Amino acid sequence: MPAFVDTSPPGVCIFCKLVAGEIPAAVVYEDDLVIAFMDIGQVNPGHVLVATKRHAQDLLALTADECARVMQVAHLVAAAVHEAFAPSGLTLLQANGHDGGQTVFHFHMHVVPRHADDGVHLSWPRK
Ligand code: C5P
Repeated sequence: MPAFVDTSPPGVCIFCKLVAGEIPAAVVYEDDLVIAFMDIGQVNPGHVLVATKRHAQDLLALTADECARVMQVAHLVAAAVHEAFAPSGLTLLQANGHDGGQTVFHFHMHVVPRHADDGVHLSWPRK
């Protein structure tokens, strides 16, 4: 089973609620287009998600500006994670569609700090 399956009814998106401040989140960055917050299911300490503020289902639904900003913010987050958690590696992951392993259908990119022999085996879809 994946760590999290979005069981929200159609039209009710958990990340839209998070963006609206209706559910709690440890937000580490936000601007007009994107928000970054700690993943509720930390694969390793410092696991951050960079999501669009606008509800866009996946990569194909992003505007060019959102695409560019997501990568700029992932770069900033990677630097902050590197400073705070001193990983020896970083894995960026971004799943699209059920068959691509996406479980929350609101665009987000994972920034996962990695360490030698951390025992993390990332497979998408997650088992
Ligand atoms: O790539 P995927 O769509 O599977 O990632 C969804 C991620 O959203 C999971 O890593 C899950 O832990 C995270 N999540 C979260 N906060 C929530 C619900 C899910 O960080 N409230």
